[in-house]
Amino acid sequence: TYVVTENCIACKYTDCVEVCPVDCFYEGENTLVIHPDECIDCGVCEPECPADAIRPDTEPGMEQWVEFNRKYAEIW
Ligand code: SF4
Repeated sequence: TYVVTENCIACKYTDCVEVCPVDCFYEGENTLVIHPDECIDCGVCEPECPADAIRPDTEPGMEQWVEFNRKYAEIW
């Protein structure tokens, strides 16, 4: 899965939302979030983010961000 990370805080570009083929972006408190069970790992959102906030969860230290994204995505 891909995850939204700290660079998204206070950023409300929605370029990523527009390109996601499965509509798995949701509104968090201060960020957008990606539902980790709905993301199909296509990667098209990553280069669209002007703040470089979207990262693959295979990078080191992403566990906390997966949980953060899940928490806010599941509110909806
Ligand atoms: Fe959507 Fe693909 Fe980005 Fe996952 S990687 S959030 S499916 S655009």
